[in-house]
Amino acid sequence: MTELPRIPLAGVIGTPIAHSKSPQLHRHWLKTYGITGHYIPMDIAPDDLETVLRTLPKMGFVGVNITIPHKEKVMEIADLVTDRAILIGAANTLIFRKDGKIHADNTDGYGFIENLKDGAPQWNPRSGPAVVLGAGGAARAVISSLLEAGVPEIHLSNRTRIRAETLQKDFGSRVFVYDWVQAGNIIDDAALLVNTTSLGMIGKPELRVPLDGLRPQTVVTDLVYAPLKTKMLATAEEYGCVTVDGLGMLLHQAVPAFERWFGRRPEVDRATRAAALR
Ligand code: NAP
Repeated sequence: MTELPRIPLAGVIGTPIAHSKSPQLHRHWLKTYGITGHYIPMDIAPDDLETVLRTLPKMGFVGVNITIPHKEKVMEIADLVTDRAILIGAANTLIFRKDGKIHADNTDGYGFIENLKDGAPQWNPRSGPAVVLGAGGAARAVISSLLEAGVPEIHLSNRTRIRAETLQKDFGSRVFVYDWVQAGNIIDDAALLVNTTSLGMIGKPELRVPLDGLRPQTVVTDLVYAPLKTKMLATAEEYGCVTVDGLGMLLHQAVPAFERWFGRRPEVDRATRAAALR
């Protein structure tokens, strides 16, 4: 009797998980490319994480995405961790290898840069400093990818200054730290302005950094994607800036994972955006 191939399974692990857009996204690609496979959201408590991760490959899982609050913990569980995940200090993608080893990577920085290339193709990383607002987990991925892309300087400002200083220590001499109250004063020579704080997101306070120093040449992007057009992006548009919303980062960060798990590199196009927004 010929053995039927195993149906590949993937998913996303976090808690809570019901809000995640990843299932819609991956299911859209599975359907678009006619791939037999499934993508499942899994609400897993921190204490159960390791047991679940060691069990999933036996159940036919080829990998999973990892989200809050497990992105750091998973680094201790994985058998192999990429350099960029180590630098960022968190992983968002796991690959369950055939030899039983768990491979951890972080694709957030890749997603961030690909989204910028898509939404602001004229942006040249070497053309000037990038101003980064915020110093949380997402900021680490953004800073690491900007430095790798060749941005000459990063001007970093965060409400809690010490968190920004920690990033400066980790990422080196091209990162300069400014007080949060100064954030509005450092944007006038920026080639790129990035909001990596959660400010402006539905249910959170607005970002109150003054934007009147913005020049039309500055590309402005927000990691927040709910709402899609944040107040920061709307104001930047009024100043004549090219703006890039945060949804594309979410879509692009999923591309390498889908390719590794299901063997097909997916396109990020209008239909993909629509599927994620459904
Ligand atoms: P995080 O680690 O919790 O960091 C939150 C950041 O927001 C910190 O810099 C924090 O400053 C700042 N912040 C929060 N409340 C503030 C306030 N009232 N005033 C000033 N600053 C405040 O979160 P994260 O994982 O970095 O995520 C940040 C945002 O990026 C979230 O909205 C998340 O949804 C979004 N994100 C989007 C994508 C995407 O694919 N588009 C990917 C990752 C994250 P302090 O250090 O002072 O607390």
